[in-house]
Amino acid sequence: MDLTGKVAIVTGASRGIGRAIALGLARAGTHVVLAARQESLLQQVAQQARQHGVEAAIVRADLREEKEITRVIGTALERFGRLEILVNNAGLGYLKPVADLTTAEWDEMFAVNLRAVFLATRAALPHLRRAGESFVVNVASLAGKNTFVNGGGYTATKWGLRAFSQCLMLEERKHGLRVLTICPGSVDTEFGSGRATPRPPQRDIILPEDIVEAMLCALKLPQRSMISEIDIRPSNP
Ligand code: NAP
Repeated sequence: MDLTGKVAIVTGASRGIGRAIALGLARAGTHVVLAARQESLLQQVAQQARQHGVEAAIVRADLREEKEITRVIGTALERFGRLEILVNNAGLGYLKPVADLTTAEWDEMFAVNLRAVFLATRAALPHLRRAGESFVVNVASLAGKNTFVNGGGYTATKWGLRAFSQCLMLEERKHGLRVLTICPGSVDTEFGSGRATPRPPQRDIILPEDIVEAMLCALKLPQRSMISEIDIRPSNP
């Protein structure tokens, strides 16, 4: 895909991987619609995106709410009249033993990491199909392929997300929509900073920019071929 002049929605764009993806797309010439709860952070990201000569809109939205997700998709269409890329990146993890995980924590992880992806994708699908050439990028995790102590809730969301994402890929490729699932290992962000067990020190932790580089490679492939899943690991853990 030639990314110049395309329109992308990025969820969880206020910081971390989503922020880096939004700025990477802007650098490639794509107009961006940025969604998350923290408006002041979104404004900063939008300002940085505009420095690359593209348009950037922000939508303050809590993705636990279906009507707010609908508003995110609606904002992109009102502003640009079309949509070519949806990046479902927003996510969170309460990394705790099952014995200590609260119902509210379980529900929040499933609402943002999985339900919101379904709702945003379903709302965007008619517009992505209409584009002729389009992408859904779902940020899953290596936690969607592995299991570990304290991961009972989080890994379940990411295993579910990978399954959802692969079914979507099989269903939609005939409509010109390619679906990419990205599965990073530990990335240097604020993710899980409230976690029960602190992130173990790593010599060469993955940076958000590394995720962006891998994603852009996949997006730029000619339409006849598709990278459907990418694992990204630290080379020197
Ligand atoms: P992060 O720095 O904590 O950022 C999470 C983003 O999600 C923020 O922009 C946050 O925005 C947004 N978000 C969370 N809850 C939301 C809600 N209810 N409504 C709207 N937005 C919400 O984490 P990150 O590392 O960049 O994580 C991004 C994605 O990568 C997640 O899906 C995560 O599971 C995945 N991942 C991360 C790692 C890692 O080690 N960092 C590894 C593998 C996969 P607001 O707070 O402004 O709403």
